[in-house]
Amino acid sequence: MTIVRVALNVPIDSLFDYRLPDASQQDIGLLVRVPFGKRHMIGVIVEKVQDTQVKPEQLKAVDEVLRSIPPLPTQLLKLFTFCNHYYHHPIGMIIMGCLPAKLPSTKLISKINAEQTLFMLTEAGRGISIDSLPARDKAQRNLLTQFQAMGMVTNKQAKVISQRAPQLLELFLTRAWIEKRYTVMPSQSKVLPLPTLNPEQADAVNTIVAALHQFKTWLLHGITGSGKTEVYLQVIAAVLQQDRQVLILVPEINLTPQLEKGFRDRFPALSVICLHSKLNTTERTQNWLLAQAGTANIILGTRLAIFTPLPKLGLIIIDEEHDLSYKQQDGFRYSARDVAIFRAKQTHIPIVLGSATPSLESYHNALTGRYSLLSLRTRAIKNAALPVIQLIDTRNKLLQEGLSEPLLNALEKNLSQNRQSMVFINRRGYAPILLCKSCAWMATCSRCSSRLVLHLQKQLLCCHYCGHQQPAPYACPHCGDPDLLPFGQGTQRIEAALTKHFATARIVRVDRDNIQRKDAWAHIRQAIHAKQVDILIGTQLLAKGHDFPELSLVCILNADASLYSTDFRAEERLFSQLMQVAGRAGRATTAGAVLIQTDLPDHPLYSALIKHDYDHYAKKLLAERQTVDFPPYTYQTLLNAEAPKLESALNFLKHALAIAPSSQSIQIYDPVPAQMPRLKGYERAHVLIQSHSRKKLQDFLSNWYTELSKISKAKVRWAIDVDPLEF
Ligand code: ADP
Ligand code: ZN
Ligand code: ZN
Repeated sequence: MTIVRVALNVPIDSLFDYRLPDASQQDIGLLVRVPFGKRHMIGVIVEKVQDTQVKPEQLKAVDEVLRSIPPLPTQLLKLFTFCNHYYHHPIGMIIMGCLPAKLPSTKLISKINAEQTLFMLTEAGRGISIDSLPARDKAQRNLLTQFQAMGMVTNKQAKVISQRAPQLLELFLTRAWIEKRYTVMPSQSKVLPLPTLNPEQADAVNTIVAALHQFKTWLLHGITGSGKTEVYLQVIAAVLQQDRQVLILVPEINLTPQLEKGFRDRFPALSVICLHSKLNTTERTQNWLLAQAGTANIILGTRLAIFTPLPKLGLIIIDEEHDLSYKQQDGFRYSARDVAIFRAKQTHIPIVLGSATPSLESYHNALTGRYSLLSLRTRAIKNAALPVIQLIDTRNKLLQEGLSEPLLNALEKNLSQNRQSMVFINRRGYAPILLCKSCAWMATCSRCSSRLVLHLQKQLLCCHYCGHQQPAPYACPHCGDPDLLPFGQGTQRIEAALTKHFATARIVRVDRDNIQRKDAWAHIRQAIHAKQVDILIGTQLLAKGHDFPELSLVCILNADASLYSTDFRAEERLFSQLMQVAGRAGRATTAGAVLIQTDLPDHPLYSALIKHDYDHYAKKLLAERQTVDFPPYTYQTLLNAEAPKLESALNFLKHALAIAPSSQSIQIYDPVPAQMPRLKGYERAHVLIQSHSRKKLQDFLSNWYTELSKISKAKVRWAIDVDPLEF
């Protein structure tokens, strides 16, 4: 009797055993429908075994094997298993959560005007024995063999196997061995001339290309505007020439559509696909299948795309590797960057991490030789220099709506010269605090430990953590005083102030509130490039990877706030963010300037920023981390708990500590409330665990996780967060 072990999307960290007569090794990775309790669920066959702990009378049979969907490759299953062991999240939730939701019910639509059509093997086709085909018809045999091996073949691939492919595909279709699925349309753009690389870029490309057939982690540290994208493109070209696939992860695709276009323009004959959460599920499933079939050459995606099956993977690129969005902050809390490195190692291929401000973890790895460092120290475009950064000391200045006179003057001057400016303030809304002057009442969220942000246009108070909204009150709900004071600035308030101050200027605000509409951001971007915008006001959405050639002045407001944060990564993040924002100025031939308003002009962060000195500052921060024994000098994990009452969460954690396995090389801290103690109606607390040995920490966690899973967790939700970025 053969038994298959199936991954199911249930919060139990185990595979489930089912009978499947005649299961073969080839069935591993296939989707199946199985009975589970009173329901039927879709799962994936992960293993085939002979024996089971399940009693014979309780062992159920697989309902159905979904053979029309190609099996997940075993390498990918191994990647999931690695994640299961490393992140301590239930295996079935990991696997099922990473597959496109529509995969099991997939009925793909075909587009017309196809250049490429994908054909999928049917169940009937899978059942045909090659030996039953005419012996002399090699082409027919080869094509069916290919179908049975891959599950799907495109007309283009079929053509490689045989010149008679079109007729054979027709024949297979009429015999119902295959089905026509959907089509791939390569982009139609013209081929652009390649820019000549500067010596640093050329050196980076040559070095990476010289070592394409081995695992190696490259850290491409290139200042803003140094042309990292061009380096990626030319390395990619070398990989594609070997008929291999390239996976590029970016923090956010929908904000940087020019990147996708850049790839399509450069490789017009190839298939470039995107995988991100803004695609509808059908599109995502289609693209995923194209990747899985080896038909898609370039896969551009966000975090989750790291789990795409890619049979011919030859290179992984992680753009803006320092970006926080690579870490999933709930459920399966993985770091796509770290998983990517594991995957590159598993596949024996290179991985390139690119950034102007690498994370301290990656930089440390480069300094110690675990990663290989490649630096781009100059801007790529001739005569484009890094912007001059100046501080405006606001301690003794009168501010109008948060804006100082020198800053307003600089904006005025830039306007009069018909140049573009940007004002960066990392808070949306009108004012972050609504305060009663008589009784000091403040608008706070009832579900979170946060203040409500005033959105004046909609007359709403909004919680930026849980999304709660309520009408802004006309008077203090506590003492009735109608004189409520909006305190502090957000993008809307700056917009209002600048609109009043510069009556004729064309001002555009860019934050999550006003790019929600589909295409809104595309229109704004177009207007910026067409020089129809004088002043851009925006949050960190504007900091990420945009290339606005006309932008010559960047003004930064309210940056100091982060310097008071208790998060030990706050400085690293602020530095990185300000480097990125400042890097938007003067990217083409217009010289750039950056003005930063601050109450702390002597802070070392600002001195380093003025000198554009990432290396020096990063080394200083690393030295500080080493003194206090923080990452990357130690490895951390959190055990998070949340419950309607803080006491329950803390009690759970105390109990968890009581059953923790003893281990000498592990440091365990006391349970404490989280930095955000209340979120969405839950009280949150955690325990921090640290070790200098990743291996020992992992062993400890594995044992602990098993014990924790046995606790009945009434009313408490808990999770392990390995390598946490939020506390
Ligand atoms: P980064 O991502 O490093 O901030 P980009 O890749 O956006 O920089 O490149 C900045 C600008 O430089 C882009 O407009 C790009 O087209 C241009 N560029 C890149 N490499 C070259 C080169 N070798 N010669 C001329 N222009 C280049
Ligand atoms: Zn009051
Ligand atoms: Zn809230």
